[in-house]
This record gives sequence, C-alpha cells and structure tokens, in this order.
Amino acid sequence: METTLRGVGVSHGVAIGEVRHMGTAVLEPPAKQIPAEEAEREQGRARQAVEAVAADLNARGNLAGGEAQAVLEAQAMIAQDPELMADVDRRIAVGSTAERGIYDAFSHYRELLAGAGEYMAGRVADLDDVRNRIVARLLGVPMPGVPDSDEPYVLIARDLAPADTALLDPTLVLGFVTEEGGPTSHSAILARALGVPAVVALPGACELAEGAVVAVDGSTGEIFVSPSAEKQAELEKQSEERKAALAASTGPGATSDGHKVPLLANVGGPADVPAAVEAGAEGVGLFRTEFLFLDDSQKAPSEEKQVEAYRQVLEAFPEGRVVVRVLDAGADKPLDFLTPADEPNPALGVRGLRTLLDHPEVLRTQLTALAKAAEGLPVYLEVMAPMVADRQDAKAFADACRAAGLQAKFGAMVEIPSAALRARSVLQEVEFLSLGTNDLAQYTFAADRQVGAVSRLQDPWQPALLDLVSLSAEAARAEGKSCGVCGEAASDPLLACVLTGLGVTSLSMGAASIPYVRATLAKYTLAQCERAAAAARAADSADEARAAAQAVLSGE
Ligand code: PEP
Ligand code: MG
Repeated sequence: METTLRGVGVSHGVAIGEVRHMGTAVLEPPAKQIPAEEAEREQGRARQAVEAVAADLNARGNLAGGEAQAVLEAQAMIAQDPELMADVDRRIAVGSTAERGIYDAFSHYRELLAGAGEYMAGRVADLDDVRNRIVARLLGVPMPGVPDSDEPYVLIARDLAPADTALLDPTLVLGFVTEEGGPTSHSAILARALGVPAVVALPGACELAEGAVVAVDGSTGEIFVSPSAEKQAELEKQSEERKAALAASTGPGATSDGHKVPLLANVGGPADVPAAVEAGAEGVGLFRTEFLFLDDSQKAPSEEKQVEAYRQVLEAFPEGRVVVRVLDAGADKPLDFLTPADEPNPALGVRGLRTLLDHPEVLRTQLTALAKAAEGLPVYLEVMAPMVADRQDAKAFADACRAAGLQAKFGAMVEIPSAALRARSVLQEVEFLSLGTNDLAQYTFAADRQVGAVSRLQDPWQPALLDLVSLSAEAARAEGKSCGVCGEAASDPLLACVLTGLGVTSLSMGAASIPYVRATLAKYTLAQCERAAAAARAADSADEARAAAQAVLSGE
C-alpha cells in the first residue's frame, strides 16, 4: 500500500528506485560462550562467510579492473589467509561464536600489523574492512559503508559524512534520504553537488525496508513508499515539465529589469566542474578545498597535488571568477592531523581559520599552491577564509596571503554573527565578504546543523538570519566592496530573490540549482525583490517570512 512520508526537500527533482541502506560501522559482536557441540557448525559458518566475502571481493575486482582489481584481490587474500583462519578455528573450538572468533582473530592480527612498520601498518584499514564485511555477513546486517550494488538505488542513511560521500558513485545513486541532517548539512550539500534529488530530516527513514520501492520528491520533501504506477507516472511527468521550463532559461543571472547578480557554482574539486559549466555558472563562488584533504586524514596533500587540482578548476573558467576557500577543517569535517581530538564542543572549538592559524605551514602550502596554479592564467582569483570572527582574524589571513605572494583578492566568510555585526570593521582588512549562511544559521540559533531535530532553526528564512545578511550587505555597499552568499540559502529560488533585494551582489550554489535560481530571478524586478526582502524581514518566523515574500512576488 502506498504511504507518504515528509522530510525537508533539499535537492530538486524526482528519483524512483529501490531502497539501499548505508551500512553502519560493525558493532563488536557479544563475547558469549557456545557449547562444545556447536563448535563445528560455527566453524563452518565462519568459513562460509569468509569464502563468500572473498568471492565477492574478487568478483568486484574483475568488474573494476586496473588498480582497483589489485587492491580488491589483495583484500580477498587477507580474508583467506590460512594462519588467520586457523586462529579463528582455535577460538571457536574454545567457545567463541563464529562472529566473535573472526572479530578477535582479526583484532590480534591487526595489532601485529600495526606494530610492523609503516607499510604493514598501512594495511590495517584493509584488514578492518575485510573483518567488517565478514562479521556483517555473519550477523545478517548490511555491509558497512556504501551499499554494494550494480543497480541504481535510492540511498538511505542516518546521515552521511563527507568521507562516506566521497565514495559514492553518482551513476548509481538515484537520490538520497537521510534521517538526520538539516537543509545545510553536508549530506544536503553533497546531494546538490551530485545533482540528485534528496530529502533530509525524515523521521523513520532508517526503518524503510531494504529493497522497497520509493519515489523521492526533492522539491516538496515527500517520499512515497510503494508508489502506484499512476503516482510514478504523475511524478515523472511533473519532473519533466519542470526540466523543460528550466531549459528555456539561459545566460547570466539578472532580475527582469537587468540588475546583474552573477550566479556562481559551489564545487568540491575538479570533478564538479563539468556540471557547473553545463549549468552556465559564471564562475565558482565557493571551492571547498577540504575535499582534497579527505583522502588521507594523517597529512595534507602535497603542494604539487594541490596545484594540479586548483589549476583544473581555474582553467575551467578562463574569463570568470573563482573564489577558493582555504581549508575548513574541524567540527563536522575533522582531520586527524589538525583537529584536536578532545574538544568538548568541536563546532565551537578550533576549526576553520582557527585551525590554519595554529598550523601556519598548512595554510602557507595551500596559498603557495594557489599562487602557482593561477600563474599565467587570466582568471580572476579570489581567496577567502572560513570562520572569520573579527578584524584580527581577517588581518591574520590577509597577512598570510600577502606573505605567500598571492596575486588575488582576499576575502572573509561571514559565518559567525560577530563578523556580520562588525562587518565594516572586518572589511578594513579584506576586499569582499561571502556569507556562509549554513554556519551563520547554526551559530545564530545555537542549532547544530547536523541535528535534524533542530532543523526548524536552521531554516535560512529565519528573519534574524536575514537581518544579519542585510547588515553585511549594507556594510559592503558602504565600503564599496562586494558581498555574496555561498551558503545553501542561495539555492532556494525564492530566497535568492530576497537575498538580491537585501543587497547581496552574487549567489553561489550547487550547479544543479543554478537553472532554478536563474529562471526565478529573471521573473522579478529589483524593486520587487527589495519589497519581498522588506516583507520577509518584517515577519516573525521563517514560515511567515517565506509566505510574505511569496505574497509580494506573486502580487497578492
Ligand atoms: C556555510 O557555512 O554556509 C558554508 C558555505 O560553508 P560550509 O557549508 O562548507 O561549512
Ligand atoms: Mg561553513
């Protein structure tokens, strides 16, 4: 029977497909004792699970070919290591269950490897992965991490960390649904980057049956479980109609009376560039460079590797603007070698620019790499720092940029209310502001952006947030400088009109949202946007602000 669930739609479009759950980390199996007569059966279970996992790894290696094949075959060999299996058998013979025997034998082997030099220690992650796969199979729970599937699916997760999402294959993931996460969480941002429909903060998402067919409407936030054939056809038709209307709008971003508002793309690296170019982005408004740092949480990528990635993005926009944000590590994007492990509240701790000022060598390498990447290119490079709190922070960043010999405009992200309240003071040190409305909402409302239960407060339509946007845009105007928005607020077409009315000078968003924003902005004059902005600010809640802006723009 068809049922409808409702969460928060964060990435437009409709996806219809089977549910696949993101496997959670394998729990430690209980250390219960089994009677001696069960040992043989348990040893058989263990062997079967090992064989099945090894066969699966080999099969996936065959499919993948190349370097991936070698890695997967090496993993299959670990699974079948005779000494390891003999240890599993011994442990089961003295009373372990199959899953506990595997878990303990692998843990013992892990300790040996970890202490056996750098190369062997590097194999520990492979060993853990093999162990998790075997234990998951024995416990009958989904494999940890991204689902193993050759068929496209709708991914369901409690939440998705950037490290998980880096592994997703965009050709297989039709859409996302998460139980946690608000509209500004990284799951939402990634869904937009992948251009797949997504719904977050959906209570009960994790209880959806594996394999059930769902239709995800990322525009309305609705999920239809077991939709009828008619419902599927109706949703697909609506989605096609929306796409056709969007395809009709092209060119630079502007209001109907020609007030220009450049529409820029948020990217995480070179892989996101083709979609940005295709969507007609006029440049990049936020290059989240931390995605380059996720491959290895023990050290920064080399200067050469960084130069290559930056250059690929810069070259894609020869005439355009590219705004690169220096590493934003910490809080929900921790890096082992930089982020303190014992902070009581990481979102309020050493993150963003604070981390870089504590590790000047990491900032220096990044700025030097950027300077080298931009050498000889006509591109208009801008570099900005995340989590600037005050003028002192802005000065420290600008000094570091100058010291690295960077020929670029230096800017500050406004993500902390203090920076918005004292924007003119911050602007004494830098040439532009960029509003990170995701963190700005988090810190204004004391509402963790990762927690679905407080998503009401992360709603970027909250009038208090609009007040801070207005303060920043006003300050920039008074200083003759620019103030863009690169938080997720910019990707909501109606809100984009309100932000324009508040005086914001550019809008940067996931590529998939650009056509929606362009089409909506082109329908209204600047004066209408200003009236909508004033009406939204006069409201007392996010819902009222949205309704008030809508009423003004639709001429009610
Ligand atoms: C923001 O906080 O709005 C922002 C753009 O940065 P991030 O989402 O990467 O924290
Ligand atoms: Mg931020």
